[in-house]
Amino acid sequence: MTSVVNEDRQAIREAVRSLCKSFPDTYWRDLDKRDEYPQDFVNALTSSGYLAVLIPEEYGGAGLGVTEAGIILEEINRSGGNPGACHAQMYTMGTLLRHGSEEQKRRYLPQIAKGELRLQAFAVTEPNAGSDTTRIETRAVRKGDRYIVNGQKIFISRAKQSDLMLLLARTTPYNEVQDKTQGISAFVVDMRNVKGNLQIQPLDMMINHHTNIIFFEDVEVPVSNLIGEEGKGFRYIIDGWNAERILVASEAIGDGRWFVDRASAYARDRVVFGRPIGANQGVQFPIAQAYAHVEAADLMCFDAAAKFDRGEKCGAEANMAKLLASEASWEAANVCLTTYGGYGFARDYDVERKFRETRLFTVAPVNNNLILAFLGQNVLKMPKSY
Ligand SMILES: Cc1cc2nc3c(=O)[nH]c(=O)nc-3n(C[C@H](O)[C@H](O)[C@H](O)COP(=O)(O)OP(=O)(O)OC[C@H]3O[C@@H](n4cnc5c(N)ncnc54)[C@H](O)[C@@H]3O)c2cc1C
Repeated sequence: MTSVVNEDRQAIREAVRSLCKSFPDTYWRDLDKRDEYPQDFVNALTSSGYLAVLIPEEYGGAGLGVTEAGIILEEINRSGGNPGACHAQMYTMGTLLRHGSEEQKRRYLPQIAKGELRLQAFAVTEPNAGSDTTRIETRAVRKGDRYIVNGQKIFISRAKQSDLMLLLARTTPYNEVQDKTQGISAFVVDMRNVKGNLQIQPLDMMINHHTNIIFFEDVEVPVSNLIGEEGKGFRYIIDGWNAERILVASEAIGDGRWFVDRASAYARDRVVFGRPIGANQGVQFPIAQAYAHVEAADLMCFDAAAKFDRGEKCGAEANMAKLLASEASWEAANVCLTTYGGYGFARDYDVERKFRETRLFTVAPVNNNLILAFLGQNVLKMPKSY
C-alpha cells in the first residue's frame, strides 16, 4: 500500500470537497424526488479515480488504504450527497483482490480501476435467510465447465447500474455440511451477457438507493468465475466485512457532521421570541451532545481504519465504529430535525432526505443488534445467542 502522510489526507479531503461543490443540495434533492441514479456524480467520481483508491497500483488503482477511502466517503456525505449509489465499487472488489486468481485480477481489476467495468452489486441477502447468511438457499450446481444458479436475492443495490455482480450461493446444501459456514461459494457474475434467466426487479424503498429483488433461473456462471476454492466463500466475504463497516461508519460520520453543521447554523440564525433559538439550552445542548458523539465515533473509526491499513486485527474496532457512528448520525439527524421545527419536514431544506438516508446505517449492511452480538460473544466471550 502507498504510504500516506496527513498532508496528503488533507489534500484528498479538500479535493473531494471541491468536486462535491458541483453537486449541490438541489442536485441530490431533485434526484431523490425522481428516484433517479446520480450518473453525473458517479461519472465525476470515477474519472477522478476516487472509486479506485483501494485497488493496488499494479492493477491501475491508487493503492491507498481504507483510511483514505473513508475520508472520501465522509466528505461526500458531509457535502450533503450520498455515495450509496457507488460506494460498493470501492470495496466489493476486495474479495476478488484477496481471494481471486491472478488471471481473474488481471481480467477485471484494471478495467474496474479505469471505470470501464462497474462492480457495484453484491448479492448476499435472501428472504429466508435475513441476517443469518449461512441459511442462504440460492444454489450453484456444477455442470462441466459451468455452474447453474437458481434462487432469489433481496435488497440487492445497484444491480441495474453494474456490469458485474459478486454473488454468494450455496454449492453444498446447508443440511449436508458439518460446519454451516462451509459449502457457500463466491462468484463473479458478468451481467452483460448472461446465459439463463436473470431478472432484476426494482424495489420501492424509503431512500433513493436502487435496490432490487433478483431472480436466478438456470443462470450460467463459468467455472473460471468462481473466486478461490469452492465452498469457502463465506470466509472470503467475512474478510471484507471490516473494511465495509469502517467505510459505512465514515459515511455516517459525514452525515453526522452535516446534521450538526446545519443544526447549529440554523439555531444561530432562527429568531423566535426575540432571540436565536440556539440561545435556549433546550435547543443548544442536544446539538452539542450530538456533536460530541459524532466526534467520539470518528476517533473509533480512525483507529479501526489505521489498524486495518497496518494489517492488524480490527474486528472489534470496525464493528464498534459502525455501531457508534450509525447511532451518532441518527442522533444528530433527530436533533437537526427537531431544531428545524416544521421546516425539517419541508423537502427544500434537505434535512428530511438526509434523515431518511442516515437511518439506513443502523440497519444495513448489518444490523446493529448483530454488531452487539459480535461484541458480546466474540470480544466479551459471553454465550452465543444464535
Ligand atoms: C436500502 C438497503 C440496501 C441494501 N443493499 C444490500 C445489498 O446491496 N446486498 C445485500 O446482500 N443486502 C443488502 N441489503 C440487505 C441488508 O444487509 C439486510 O436488510 C440486513 O442485513 C438485515 O437483514 P434482514 O433485513 O433480513 O433482517 P432480519 O435478519 O430479518 O432481522 C430483522 C430484525 O431482527 C433482528 N435480529 C435478527 N436476529 C437477531 C438475533 N439473533 N439477535 C438480535 N436481533 C436479531 C435484526 O437485528 C433486525 O432488527 C440492503 C438493505 C437495505 C434496507
